[in-house]
Amino acid sequence: MNDSPNPYRDLPSVDRLLADPRVSALAADRGHAAVAVVAREVLEGYRAAIAAAGALPHVTVVDAVLKRAETLRPSLRRVVNATGVIIHTNLGRAPLSRSAIEAIERVSTGYSNLEFDLDAGERGTRFSHLETTLCRITGAEAGIAVNNNASALLLSLAALCRDREVIISRGQLVEIGGGFRIPDVLRQSGATLVEVGTTNRTYASDYAEAITERTAAILRVHSSNFRVVGFTEQPSLSGLASLARERGLLLLDDLGSGAVLDTRAYGLAPEPLVQDSVRAGADVVLFSGDKLLGGPQAGIAAGRAKAIESMRRHPLARAVRIDKASIAALTATLDHYAKGDAEHEVPVWRMIALPFAAIEARAGRWADGCGAHAAVETCESTVGGGSLPGEALTSAACVITPPSGAETFAAALRAADPPIVARIHEDRVWLDPRTVDPSEDAHVLATLNGLLKASGDGR
Ligand SMILES: *Cc1c(COP(=O)(O)O)cnc(C)c1O
Repeated sequence: MNDSPNPYRDLPSVDRLLADPRVSALAADRGHAAVAVVAREVLEGYRAAIAAAGALPHVTVVDAVLKRAETLRPSLRRVVNATGVIIHTNLGRAPLSRSAIEAIERVSTGYSNLEFDLDAGERGTRFSHLETTLCRITGAEAGIAVNNNASALLLSLAALCRDREVIISRGQLVEIGGGFRIPDVLRQSGATLVEVGTTNRTYASDYAEAITERTAAILRVHSSNFRVVGFTEQPSLSGLASLARERGLLLLDDLGSGAVLDTRAYGLAPEPLVQDSVRAGADVVLFSGDKLLGGPQAGIAAGRAKAIESMRRHPLARAVRIDKASIAALTATLDHYAKGDAEHEVPVWRMIALPFAAIEARAGRWADGCGAHAAVETCESTVGGGSLPGEALTSAACVITPPSGAETFAAALRAADPPIVARIHEDRVWLDPRTVDPSEDAHVLATLNGLLKASGDGR
């Protein structure tokens, strides 16, 4: 082909490409028009390559079309999380409960009363749907939900503290993740940061001494993703609440994770509970929808009616507003706590609550199906999502020692459909059933089997 006098003439037409049996099978699956676009893009690439090199590239055009057609597959896909990290931010944080998914479907298939008061027949508010349940669970007077907790924090500071001072302990000037830093958020909101105390010790008196006529609020940020141990001191939230009340200030509490169930019941360290912060007297309690709450991405603010109302009315509220699908899923998630079935119905809590013996039995079944290169080992699952640092749940894993090497084997698992994401530790591949839905067991087992057979490993 390279010595053709006119290499352009060797290029097939789009029609001829689409008539190729492999390409036409693909077109039947992915859509004729979409595959035709891909074929044109490939031919365009060939023409450019010929223009640059004066000859046809060596890859056949059909193979190039099939390869490029992989881009027609949705990029965002379901994956199997075999890492044992329950709230895995890179893997989409919290899986939703069945009723949360059904709620999304109900309000997204047709129209809904999102901002319509059916009794009055006039405009309503999108926040009304979740407020009653949110208040019932947390004990707060009022509440709203926005896009995520970062925006809830930004909105609370902008609405309640703009052009005024906010006092925060130096031990709480943290980076949450992805470069999200508390001092930066404060600056963005138009509030002025006043740091008090030291990294390890801050006293109530430090806060008291920093109060001026410009002070609007005290902000407490839960150090959710790290732990300060040893010679440490932070005043209690109720102590800060008394101080704020005496001096006419607001107390904002950014909990991050927002647990409603007590983690101690599952052998974990205590994670502050939303209802405890409300009871202790915080004016606004902020937390994520998709961390320990186990719902959709959202930022929730629960607290005093006046403060919440100011947030609701602020122009930024529109920029960070939550959509109807998330409201539906969030309300359904909150309902599980109201009904008392969260431990069984909310996947995050179901995974936290899984008994070791059940996990070990599944890991055993996976290993049994894999032959000589697999074993069951005790390991640790983490809650993840920037909560409960250093805390782990005892778990069991199916551990593969692939002769092909751990990296190669893990990459092959990721190439499965749906992809399986495992952990590599000491040059072995660890698969923890805790974070794998039992309905995915057959796929995991078949994939492991297929890969080990293909490489002749352990059979
Ligand atoms: C995770 C976290 C946030 C950010 O929440 P997103 O919902 O991810 O925006 C804010 N503050 C704290 C303390 C957190 O742990």
